[in-house]
Amino acid sequence: MSEKFVSENLCVNEKGHLTVGDVDTVELAEQYGTPLYVMDENVIRNNLRRFHESMQKYYNGRGLVCYASKAFSCLEMCRIVKDEGDGLDVVSIGEIYTALKAGFPMERVVFHGNNKSAEELEFAVESKVGNIIVDNISELNKLEKICAEKGVVQSIMLRIKPGIDAHTHSFIRTGQIDSKFGFALETGEALEAVEESIKCGNINLSGLHCHIGSQIFDIEPFEEAGRVMLKFIAEIKSKFSYEIKILNLGGGFGIKYLNSHNPEPFEVYIQRVSAVVSEECEKLNISQPEIYIEPGRSIAAPAGITLYTVGARKEIPDIRTYISIDGSMADSPRYILYQSEYEAIVANKADEERSERVTIAGKCCESGDLIGENMPLQHAESGDIIAVCATGAYNYSMSSNYNRLQKPAVVFVKDGKSRVVVKRETLDDIIRNDV
Ligand SMILES: *Cc1c(COP(=O)(O)O)cnc(C)c1O
Repeated sequence: MSEKFVSENLCVNEKGHLTVGDVDTVELAEQYGTPLYVMDENVIRNNLRRFHESMQKYYNGRGLVCYASKAFSCLEMCRIVKDEGDGLDVVSIGEIYTALKAGFPMERVVFHGNNKSAEELEFAVESKVGNIIVDNISELNKLEKICAEKGVVQSIMLRIKPGIDAHTHSFIRTGQIDSKFGFALETGEALEAVEESIKCGNINLSGLHCHIGSQIFDIEPFEEAGRVMLKFIAEIKSKFSYEIKILNLGGGFGIKYLNSHNPEPFEVYIQRVSAVVSEECEKLNISQPEIYIEPGRSIAAPAGITLYTVGARKEIPDIRTYISIDGSMADSPRYILYQSEYEAIVANKADEERSERVTIAGKCCESGDLIGENMPLQHAESGDIIAVCATGAYNYSMSSNYNRLQKPAVVFVKDGKSRVVVKRETLDDIIRNDV
């Protein structure tokens, strides 16, 4: 075997089959059917631990890792995050409901969104969500009213646009001034929001939040965001004699989708950002805030693969070879959204060379419905099983029923065993809400 796999938990067994978490992927495909999402529980837990242990090491544990559940959420995922002692970042009433039903400690939940409905805000307050991340002034007013009516005080953080331009796809870049998320610093809007929040009788302004984008490889933008936010915290202290206790630096840590990708280990992000925070606080003469981070992709993506069965092979001479699979953009939407790239492996020929370049095509009625183009792959034929790697984030969570396709099951593997954590949809699920 000449090539290394993109995810470290993938191996080849004596049959030449790809394994994940010591389970044969070809057997998983037989047992549960395809398409199938497979997640390695040990990788999820280990990724969470890498973040919180580095917080322990480099920032005296004065922080909270809030897993961004939009990357991948289900009851079992919430239970695992709870079990690891971490927090949760949720972005809708559905994600709050999932956390509640999983018995998640709600004080460790932060609730995001640029247009939370009154129903969502009420539900969040009633569910005793730890912090609501307020995005705009009308939301602040709406929330103050809800809390006053209920006679409760709700902790919030304000979402700030730090004005950092991280190098990533424009759809997943969020820190610059032209973004739908948060209050701008440059215009004085953020300072006004702080002043308003401090005045609210039923709101406790506990922190500030920023999130500069996703799949970011450089550490500098995170360090810079830290500096900008701390300077603002110092300004708030001097203008209003008010102490901001939590600095939430969001998520966005890049992961290895391709063998050519080389992200820094998560530990290095935490080490360098912790150092910047400590230095700046000393310089600015402010006390060190608690640090929250919200990794989503970096926790879930490397843990997942998606298994498909090859249907047709179509060779168009001098143009390309299409390998059609039984999945599609409905279960793997990131290619059609952002032309995201993945590595793929023929799971039942994992010990062979990836000798050709192919286009893997989904089964939806869209020409753009591809898993990828020009992908190195073993010679694949009808009946082979293809594993697409690092699909644990933003695949199941972004999946749809386009073409009335049933959403695949999600199976967790751990130490040689597998179990279903989300059932495959049935045909009756497809018509469940039709009247
Ligand atoms: C999407 C998002 C995250 C998670 O981003 P990843 O790139 O998956 O780490 C964290 N915080 C906020 C506010 C987000 O919108």
